[in-house]
Amino acid sequence: MTDLAGINARIREKLHACQHALILSHIRPDGDAIGSLIGLGLALQATGKQVTLMLEDGLPAKYRFLEGSDLISKTTPAEYDLVIALDCSNKDRLGKISADLHVDINIDHHITNDNYGEINLVVPEMAATTAILADHLSEWGLPLDKNVASALLMGILTDSIGFRTVNVTPDLLRISARLMELGADMPDLYNRTLVSQSYPSSVLWGLALGRLQRENGLIWTVITLDDRKKAGYSGRDDADLTNLLSAIEGSEISVLFNEEKDDKVKVSWRSNASIDVSRIAQFFGGGGHPPAAGADMSGSLDEVRKKVLEKTKQMLKESKTKGELRNE
Ligand code: 5GP
Ligand code: MN
Repeated sequence: MTDLAGINARIREKLHACQHALILSHIRPDGDAIGSLIGLGLALQATGKQVTLMLEDGLPAKYRFLEGSDLISKTTPAEYDLVIALDCSNKDRLGKISADLHVDINIDHHITNDNYGEINLVVPEMAATTAILADHLSEWGLPLDKNVASALLMGILTDSIGFRTVNVTPDLLRISARLMELGADMPDLYNRTLVSQSYPSSVLWGLALGRLQRENGLIWTVITLDDRKKAGYSGRDDADLTNLLSAIEGSEISVLFNEEKDDKVKVSWRSNASIDVSRIAQFFGGGGHPPAAGADMSGSLDEVRKKVLEKTKQMLKESKTKGELRNE
């Protein structure tokens, strides 16, 4: 059994003893990574601590509207006495800095987290890392004001894709309601992060959706480097196309192949069925959650696509066979 009270007491002690906290999250940051950094960063800053929020890939333009987003930098400060990793399942996903980094506190909700911190608070039942923070900030003696609440609610909204993933619980709604009471503007955050779509990302969607494929319950498509150029899309991410694929009727598993430089491909899986795609991702060296997972793979787009589709089809088939057996 994890000693949650003990873990929280140790986190509280570390947070209060530090002078300068370095807070980091994963490469290709998403809303939960960014909301976690800003939420905890602002809360710590309010108690007089110095903080550096670091994302190796920097802050995507879409999140610049958030108060506190200007605290995010791409570089490491010369001195710091506490390292906190948020929403990051494996140490190497923090980026190049991870090589000789001692992580004091690791707070995350990925089921595949390998507990690389000195203190590990990993809660896979929570739909977002920001929800874990919202749940514990007061216990750690940190204040929760409007800006902290906005950043935290943003993480919940984006990771739960607007409260529609299977891990949404009454508890998550209660946490979200409390963040609204503290001043977070839910409709505004919802529109900015989940509805609003830039013109280049819409063109990118068009190019990728033009080659959508389907085979039984499996749906997939690719984003090529050339698509990005044509669309004028500067981000390294998938412009949230993965979420759109998972919304297509009949899609039990959807896969997006995102071509990157130097023969690398980012693969994203989404599952609408009972199939745990984090297991497939882990097989290819990645990780994530049962309904949403990813992996960074080496090889050409064609090679990676062939390997991944083969394995994914096999897993889908196996899980269907098991389901049939259960029903007998
Ligand atoms: P996405 O497909 O949106 O990039 O990621 C889906 C989920 O899988 C997220 O929770 C993300 O943190 C995790 N994930 C994505 N790529 C990787 C990867 O290369 N390694 C690991 N360990 N997790 C990943
Ligand atoms: Mn997350």
